[in-house]
Amino acid sequence: MLRSAAAELRKEIHMNVQISHRLHTSAPAAARALVRIVIVGEVDHGKSTLIGRLLHEAGGLPDGKLDALKAMSARRGMPFEWSFLLDALQTERDQGITIDTSQIRLRTATRDIVLIDAPGHAEFLRNMITGAAQADAAVLIVDATEGVRDQTRRHGYILHLLGVRQVMVVINKMDRIDFDAGKFREIESEITAHLALGLDLTAVAVIPISARNGDGVARHTSSLAWYRGPTVLAALDAFAPARQPHDLALRMPVQAIYKFDDRRILAGRIESGHMRVDDDILVMPAGKRARIKSIEAWPVPESSQVPRVASAGQSVGITLDRAILVDRGDVISAASHPAAGVTRLRARVFWLHRRPLAVGGRITARIGTAEAGGVVAAIENAVDPGLLASDGAEVIGPNHVGDIDIDLSRTLATDSHTDNPNTGRVVLEFEGRIAGGGLILSTQAAAANPAYGPRPNRSAAVAAPVPCAHTTPQQLSAKAAALARLFARLSPAERLVRLRREVAGKIVFTTSFGLEDQVILHLLSQQESGIEVLTLDTGRLFPETYALWAQTERRYGLRIRALYPRHADLEALIERQGINGFYHSPAARGACCAVRKVEPLERGLAGAQAWITGLRAEQSAHRRNMALATADTERGLIKLNPLFDWTREQLHMFVSDHDLPVNPLHAQGFASIGCAPCTRALAPGEPERAGRWWWEEESKKECGLHSHR
Ligand code: GDP
Repeated sequence: MLRSAAAELRKEIHMNVQISHRLHTSAPAAARALVRIVIVGEVDHGKSTLIGRLLHEAGGLPDGKLDALKAMSARRGMPFEWSFLLDALQTERDQGITIDTSQIRLRTATRDIVLIDAPGHAEFLRNMITGAAQADAAVLIVDATEGVRDQTRRHGYILHLLGVRQVMVVINKMDRIDFDAGKFREIESEITAHLALGLDLTAVAVIPISARNGDGVARHTSSLAWYRGPTVLAALDAFAPARQPHDLALRMPVQAIYKFDDRRILAGRIESGHMRVDDDILVMPAGKRARIKSIEAWPVPESSQVPRVASAGQSVGITLDRAILVDRGDVISAASHPAAGVTRLRARVFWLHRRPLAVGGRITARIGTAEAGGVVAAIENAVDPGLLASDGAEVIGPNHVGDIDIDLSRTLATDSHTDNPNTGRVVLEFEGRIAGGGLILSTQAAAANPAYGPRPNRSAAVAAPVPCAHTTPQQLSAKAAALARLFARLSPAERLVRLRREVAGKIVFTTSFGLEDQVILHLLSQQESGIEVLTLDTGRLFPETYALWAQTERRYGLRIRALYPRHADLEALIERQGINGFYHSPAARGACCAVRKVEPLERGLAGAQAWITGLRAEQSAHRRNMALATADTERGLIKLNPLFDWTREQLHMFVSDHDLPVNPLHAQGFASIGCAPCTRALAPGEPERAGRWWWEEESKKECGLHSHR
């Protein structure tokens, strides 16, 4: 009923109301910084209301328009909605009156703000990655009555994918929860922990507001007297503008070379920086040095007016002081900060072609005015932006996003997108058509690019885990505690599904083929989670364990990734303490575990945001103090123990109900099975882990994988 009345009203707006151009087409004053901001949030959380309110509060609405809209609502007996302002803008767009209402302009005290419309997140992602839209910052809106939802998490993940670093969170509809500070703090801690953990994003402010009533938008009101932070307008004003092309190093991709008499004129558009006559430049990728002799102009001007300087945005022709070979596609670069010459690069691409992009796929890569043949050498982090579910396999489907390494047929000049957004982009052609485009993450494929967050890195040997730079141990612990509370109500299968949704990035499950591990692997095999399965082959496992490993791979049709000790460390260990030195002292045993298990594990967990293990409370007194989800602050990850609260009986029942392959040693009295020399069967009545390192003191027998170092 209400909906149809609202639809009627909208129709009337479309017929009667126009808002003048002044609102959104006025050019920004040159001296004021411009910040492009995307507002994201779930439908109905109040995006349009906030935008309407901001337009009003920032004083950009023409006189009388607001009153006209209010009067129209009153005539219809409808409560006034701030979103009607946007409908009115939409009307103008439909009538072709305004140039572009998907970009709404506002003025704060010191900034010109462009609010970018984010129609749907897949579209937004495509526009951003392919360069159709650029956001320097984001406002994430959360409805206080609903809290953090899946969609909120997805939007956070998208901002992370795009490397949008500045995020303001507004908790809207505070009026509907009676401006309750306690509830606000709960949502605030959940969303900040979520953004920090895995997404590597820090909220510059979390602001309680009522977009409809205006509290917290431009003014502090008595309803929010307990809130001391900035208003939305003040926080918008504090966003840093992106570095302007003028502030970056000189890049001029050469478009054409013209020969006039004996002069060779290099023509192109200056993408960033500026050039002066007599500047030293490098022609990349060859790295040839020269000096700018002239900047040409037509018709040939009086000598006093011959240009000596040109800057970003201008198309120019230049001559150099010496005869060097320059080709179309070369990049004239500042000699002090040249573009990189690359034959391999890593890019985050949006794939448009109906046929998926696979490893080994042949494409043409275009960067600036250059192009080269390319072969896709690796694909990682492929996701469906609609679901934000991992594609798992090494392909990127149509309209999906993923990171690719490209081997180029020749050296091209480029920059990473974080160094220079103007030149750090690649366009991909496939079967003669433009098939994708993206951001250049790194000019050395497989080199980590911290700006885009941690990601799996197969080739590098990472000695020590590096916790996410912006996640404090407190945030990690808060997130773990929240997850533990959530997981308590769920089954192990649901816990795994939920973990995948709550944690973006790499998740690792380590198996030693124990009963718990077999159950978890079985549950994972039922889901499309993209969770990595690893095992640590110490070199001293039982033959039965190796047989079970092979049998498990066959049953689930997968290859389990094995990590081995570093050979130099192992040789040094044996040199020091002999092949069975671990029997001599707990220290010698610890040294063996460190080389054979702990160090390989650290490599396996490098870059992971979460780690799944088969720990159960019942296994030992030490393990009883753990929980369903804990914060491993040293490794900077969440540890999920999905079977933590299961009894041995539950475990056995599941194994037999699903006919899971298990280690035949269990039938001979072995419980927890590790390396052969260090594991024995249990005597009747002994606790579960009594069969491990039986010559040591019972209470602290851990190898270091699960106990803090
Ligand atoms: P959008 O889909 O995110 O653009 O959401 P809208 O701006 O259209 O808002 C959805 C509904 O929430 C509308 O009925 C608004 O009136 C209502 N709404 C938005 N902000 C507030 C608020 O601060 N308080 C209350 N009570 N309702 C609000």
